[in-house]
Amino acid sequence: MAAYDVIIIGGGPAGLAAGLYAGRAKLKTLLLEQMLAGGQAATTDLIENYPGAPEGTTGSKLTERMEEQAKKFGVEFLMAQVTDVDLHGREKIVITSEGRYQGKTVIIATGATHRKLGCPGEEEFTGRGVSYCATCDGAFYEDLPVAVVGGGDSAITEALFLTKFASRVYVVHRRDALRATKVVQDKAFAEPKIEFVWNSVVEEIKGGEMVEALRLRNVKTGALQDLPVKGVFIYVGLVPNTGFLKGQVQLDERGYIPVTANMETNVPGVFAAGDVTVKLLRQVVTAVGDGATAAVAAEKYIEENF
Ligand code: NAP
Repeated sequence: MAAYDVIIIGGGPAGLAAGLYAGRAKLKTLLLEQMLAGGQAATTDLIENYPGAPEGTTGSKLTERMEEQAKKFGVEFLMAQVTDVDLHGREKIVITSEGRYQGKTVIIATGATHRKLGCPGEEEFTGRGVSYCATCDGAFYEDLPVAVVGGGDSAITEALFLTKFASRVYVVHRRDALRATKVVQDKAFAEPKIEFVWNSVVEEIKGGEMVEALRLRNVKTGALQDLPVKGVFIYVGLVPNTGFLKGQVQLDERGYIPVTANMETNVPGVFAAGDVTVKLLRQVVTAVGDGATAAVAAEKYIEENF
């Protein structure tokens, strides 16, 4: 079984920054990622709140450069799905689709994925009008009406992105006030292609071969209406990717990993970083800080325990 000083699970900004710092500390480091590196940030069209990029940058460009930088300092990348872990021994075991690996430390940076709405039609029309990635699928809706569900940063940022293609972008939100950052809200309110449908939830996604309409219910009046759209982009929050950790590491009631200020979990030698942790702010700028801290804490742990 191949042995490492540090095994990083997850290749988003937190994992990539952890890799950079572990590599520069000359630790033998393996980074496991089930798809292409970059995480959720890689599917974000415009990131304009990452310090040092006043014109904004695309998520894919930023994370590709992070990957290149981690590789430059010797981090090994492997595309593999982690199926199980045994983190309680002195040596940690990570079992993947590509084999078993042993690490003195593990950094969990598996992030979070989009929460589903759970309404009729959502599963059925996924890939046929229902999407969770505007950057991937937005261009299919040139001159067509689409809806975005949600009122957070993801929903409003992606609604703005979709105005590049769609004829109209309806933002369906369950309240009458947005959760998104104020500067993002202001842009959306000023965008003529965006129309807000307040106090409304999606009861059903309807269609034939493809999506044709959303059945909406006004939560104040109970009134039902059908909103004709060709696509619906769902951004109703996140679910942490921690299913494979049950019984291994302490999780909070929502499945996020509580960590100390040094990114330690409750298991010695196991650290966590980025969106998967319990934290106030889930953004690239906080993920990279977590990743750097986790790597330095892992280095210190190895010095003291091996
Ligand atoms: P979020 O902040 O949790 O917002 C989720 C939105 O979906 C909320 O508006 C919520 O409504 C709504 N919602 C939740 N469950 C729903 C349901 N069952 N039906 C209808 N609506 C529902 O999630 P997010 O927007 O994905 O953002 C996640 C994190 O990433 C946040 O910390 C965010 O700041 C960050 N982020 C930042 C950026 C950026 O800075 N550029 C971009 C994307 C994401 P309520 O408001 O009523 O709760």
